[in-house]
Amino acid sequence: MAVASVLINVERFVASLVLGGVGDALGYKKGDWEFCPSGTRIHEALAQLGGVEKIVVNKKKWPVSDDTVMQIATAEALADSKWTTLKELYSKIAGKYKDCMKDMSGRAPGLTCQAFARSLKPAAPDGYFVPFNPIGGGCGAAMRSVPIGLYYWKPDQLDDLIAVSIESGRMTHNHPTGYLGSFATALLVSYALQGQPIKQWGRLLYDTLPKAKEYVKNEGRDVKENMEAWSYFEDQWKNYLTSRGIFDLDSCEVKFPDKYGIEERDKFYREISFSGTGGASGHDAPIIAYDAILGAPGADSWVELCSRSMFHGGDSDSTGIIAGALYGAMHGFKGVPEGNYKSLEYRDRMEKLAKKLYKKI
Ligand code: MG
Repeated sequence: MAVASVLINVERFVASLVLGGVGDALGYKKGDWEFCPSGTRIHEALAQLGGVEKIVVNKKKWPVSDDTVMQIATAEALADSKWTTLKELYSKIAGKYKDCMKDMSGRAPGLTCQAFARSLKPAAPDGYFVPFNPIGGGCGAAMRSVPIGLYYWKPDQLDDLIAVSIESGRMTHNHPTGYLGSFATALLVSYALQGQPIKQWGRLLYDTLPKAKEYVKNEGRDVKENMEAWSYFEDQWKNYLTSRGIFDLDSCEVKFPDKYGIEERDKFYREISFSGTGGASGHDAPIIAYDAILGAPGADSWVELCSRSMFHGGDSDSTGIIAGALYGAMHGFKGVPEGNYKSLEYRDRMEKLAKKLYKKI
């Protein structure tokens, strides 16, 4: 696999965590926008505020939601100096997920994350295993795995990226549609840092799924249930990539519909969703974030990226955290109005964590 650019720097790590947090806070808007089913209404309210450029994101008006709190938990475990084996790392992650549930007041945590994180037993051997969950396909694992893509960003770290994204994902979402969302987010972040051509990310991800499948089979837990439920995620990604004309790695052009405005996007996001809310599942949260990056790829496209990934009628904080993180991993803070991130809740914490992760790689 050819890597076009390896000019990574600490700013891209910091911006990935921080702009992910911004995407979450903007998409959430204290619940008003996360739970608003109309992108048109959100954009009308946004215009009243003077557009995203005028928004000063701070704790009082624009707190971060569960997504960022869990993203920080993942980053804290990875940045901890006291683990050496993956098993030790998983116990750390389990401990952080359990602990961070104390910081969920006013942050609209998902029911699956809450129930399973509280059931984890970090100190017990295998205390991070939870039962297979036939309805565990939500986006709660996809929304928090950005730090895994930062930490294991190099192509030769793919095996660890697969293992850690899947194991941390299935601590709360033990269903392929759920934990493959964690895998997808982490992998897209690694591609962003590697400088892979954006239009190839999706197909490269699709081609990595057999490796993820092998990992799950080799681990030997709930294999029959996992294999029976495996194909949905794979099929949804294939359908999406085909619809954009980028299933073929050599295709030169991303095909968007002629008219693809706010309403058309809401409709499309609903169509690719599992049950009517775009971005609420493990497959479509990263798809929508990727779709937004494909449509707004440059360092001059922050406003457009926000429109596509944070201000729609679906699960807009989870698609927002992934899209914001991808933007940061590619461009750093270039093109982002300072007011959007300077006073973000937990910004210092994320900045320190990103620096620690960067130092550790
Ligand atoms: Mg949230």
